Amino acid sequence: MTRLGETPPLHPAFSLFPVVNGTLSVGGMSLSALSDRAGGTPFYVYDRAKMTERVKLLRRHFPSEIKLHYAVKANPMPDVVAHLAKWVDGADVASGGELTVAKNAGFSAAETSFAGPGKRPEELAQAVEWGALVNVESVREVDILTRLAEELGRSPRVAVRVNPDFGLKHSGVKMGGGPQPFGVDVEQVPLLLAEIGRRRLTFEGFHIFSGSQNLQSAAIVESQNLTLELAIRLSAWAPGPVRVLNIGGGFGIPYFPGDQPLDLAPIGENLRRWMTPLRAALPEAQITGEMGRYLVGEAGVYVCRILDRKVSRGKTFLVVDGGMHHHLAASGHFGQVIRKNFPVAIGNRMGEPATETVSIVGPLCTPMDLLADCIDLPLAQVGDFVVVFQSGAYGFTASPHRFLSHPPPSEILV
Ligand SMILES: *Cc1c(COP(=O)(O)O)cnc(C)c1O
Repeated sequence: MTRLGETPPLHPAFSLFPVVNGTLSVGGMSLSALSDRAGGTPFYVYDRAKMTERVKLLRRHFPSEIKLHYAVKANPMPDVVAHLAKWVDGADVASGGELTVAKNAGFSAAETSFAGPGKRPEELAQAVEWGALVNVESVREVDILTRLAEELGRSPRVAVRVNPDFGLKHSGVKMGGGPQPFGVDVEQVPLLLAEIGRRRLTFEGFHIFSGSQNLQSAAIVESQNLTLELAIRLSAWAPGPVRVLNIGGGFGIPYFPGDQPLDLAPIGENLRRWMTPLRAALPEAQITGEMGRYLVGEAGVYVCRILDRKVSRGKTFLVVDGGMHHHLAASGHFGQVIRKNFPVAIGNRMGEPATETVSIVGPLCTPMDLLADCIDLPLAQVGDFVVVFQSGAYGFTASPHRFLSHPPPSEILV
């Protein structure tokens, strides 16, 4: 714990963006310039160069044969998706709405896949008409796709999303292993594959995604090994060659004090070792990794302004014009078990020593509307900027923005 008067140890996020005359700058623009561009606070700003850097970083570590997809749900802002469409190989979408976003952003049907535990018939039709790959997650979906094949005179492209018999250890979010609404349990996959073989469907391969927000490369390596072994085993039941093998992602970013950035080197080395055995076992398979948070999370900053300073029985509150209705994750209510502060700063007082302990709250009449609890910050005034780092993923669209009828934040890409 830093004592007042000391400069706190900086979260790695603090060095992501330059500081000019004590003020944070994103994409070469100061906070006031950004605020003008956004039409005032609160707003999200996303730095396109940071996203590009992340894609390049992954490509430096991964074998060149591996394709990289963007999981649109992490940040579906159209400009962000259009930017990534220029840099990654494909998109993974989780709804008909996201499918439209990916299409409009310039992704092709051939490089878009659609996963999700509850796909409506209209959404499946939308995917089939466009020609996207459907990652099927139940027999019902196979039935609907078979009907659509007849109606539309098409042969829908399908991959089987597998719920493996293992999870991704040490993950912030577990999405595979044990009972899951996602995918088809591995035990049931051989029967489903046989069924797919009897239908007018084009079998493409497998999708195996076991977890998210992981910072431990050893856990990711282990889960990738299990995933690749599983895919090879399942291919024995496949009605055709495996052409697509989506091995998921799960790459996390450091949010909280003590979190260390993910070390990509061991993951890249392990994947490199796999390329030869994979070519032997699944010669036609295109291996794909899908990333959401890792590509966009660090590129985004949420910016709001201090509306009021209040002291209540010795506790100081900074009341800001944004809050949990825009940024649920920073309030601690997006899947966190224990509430911890996101990296937060007074954006126009960067580098000033911390001189007081404050809590930063939003305008909502609920104690849940808390952006930072008891943090040490420089003495801040009404009108100062509060910035929340690591806000490029699962921000605005993962928040209850209609709650209390405040206006939504703007989002800008710089
Ligand atoms: C949410 C999701 C992702 C993205 O996860 P991140 O942690 O943002 O990388 C990838 N694939 C599937 C199937 C998902 O549901």
